[in-house]
Amino acid sequence: MHMTPVAPTVEALRRAVGNWRREGARIALVPTMGALHEGHLSLVEIARRQAERVVVSIFVNPTQFGPNEDFAKYPRTLDDDRRRLGTLADLVFAPSVEEMYPAGFATTVSLEGPATAGLEDAFRPTHFAGVATVVSKLFIQTTPDFAVFGEKDYQQLKVVTRMTRDLDLPVTIVPGETVREADGLAMSSRNRYLSAEARAKAPAIHATLSTCAARLRTGEAPATVLPDGRRRLTDAGFTIDYLEARNAETLAPVESVQAEPVRLLVAARLDGTRLIDNLAV
Ligand code: AMP
Repeated sequence: MHMTPVAPTVEALRRAVGNWRREGARIALVPTMGALHEGHLSLVEIARRQAERVVVSIFVNPTQFGPNEDFAKYPRTLDDDRRRLGTLADLVFAPSVEEMYPAGFATTVSLEGPATAGLEDAFRPTHFAGVATVVSKLFIQTTPDFAVFGEKDYQQLKVVTRMTRDLDLPVTIVPGETVREADGLAMSSRNRYLSAEARAKAPAIHATLSTCAARLRTGEAPATVLPDGRRRLTDAGFTIDYLEARNAETLAPVESVQAEPVRLLVAARLDGTRLIDNLAV
């Protein structure tokens, strides 16, 4: 079975990209941490429609994990990932931690705005600086015309979009819709941590978001809808980090869903696994 060629170093990546540039090809990048599922593949298909050449980066970025998070146990399945991608991608960029963060590494990219909205950042205080720094590096290493990010990580999508605009990075950010299992659970590399019992409860996250969104659309106030949603998840056995309605662009808190675009965002833990999801109202 075909395995996508792999570049383990920045030098090898730049050599491939340089050759494609001389052919006049446009380049699209899909940054991932691997353990690829259909959600990732849908982003690669979007990338394919944008550009003649597609690079998928696979790097479990240590700087975006907190000290008590799952960096050590995060699944690493590079050969399987390369088989899944097959010819859909032209190159997998899979650097080592030392390649990305050589001894003495001292630079961080951080931002405010969407990165300090009080959602993921409230529970993962160093997360978005880790994301912004590694995405900056990936953009500088790959020099893509397009980069595709999933709406699954909605705050991350807004952070990357803001950073790209603020730093005048010549990359067009392309969003990809969340791909779900048949029962509504958003696909995630972390779903494999779920026990059978937890997996059976997990679709309550999307079901709760859908119910809350429908009620908000009929004009009910967030102040009544959101507590009901939180109670439903708590009753199903989740520990909630947040369930919020936010402005879909700025992520600022909303009072009324009639006057502005609204997104529901949730993070909740089940059996030690932290799941996030979001939905347009
Ligand atoms: P990750 O490997 O989890 O860091 O995710 C890499 C990229 O895939 C990010 O842009 C995610 O938002 C995106 N992604 C993750 N899960 C999904 C999904 N279920 N549907 C669409 N995109 C996803």
